[in-house]
Amino acid sequence: MSTTIFAKIISGEIPAPKIYEDEHCIVINDIAPQAPVHVLVIPKQPITMLTETTASDEALLGHLMLVAAQQARELGIAEGCRFIVNNGAAGGQTVFHLHIHVLGGQTLSEQGL
Ligand code: IMP
Repeated sequence: MSTTIFAKIISGEIPAPKIYEDEHCIVINDIAPQAPVHVLVIPKQPITMLTETTASDEALLGHLMLVAAQQARELGIAEGCRFIVNNGAAGGQTVFHLHIHVLGGQTLSEQGL
């Protein structure tokens, strides 16, 4: 199994400031932000992508969504923001460890950023 940059951040092999952490996930700032606020909610479990999840991941997926929403509130973007999950290379995914992008802090266009 290949180790992604996110697995290395989660293990501490690569240092990255975590703006939130609990038993199941971490939240970090995106290294190449596409909006004034751009954080990533990343499960500690190395799930490759959303379409690889099963019913056994239901609680974790719900938790990730709740953390994403809480981060949006805490970062002051709850009234207008975007949650994105890219899935697979053709879906724009570049890091093959599931993550939710949380973007905001500017008016986001209907298509793209
Ligand atoms: P994806 O294209 O949906 O897979 O998103 C991957 C995201 O991870 C991109 O927005 C990258 O800018 C971001 N990223 C890649 N490496 C790092 C890192 O080391 N720290 C924080 N974000 C990263």
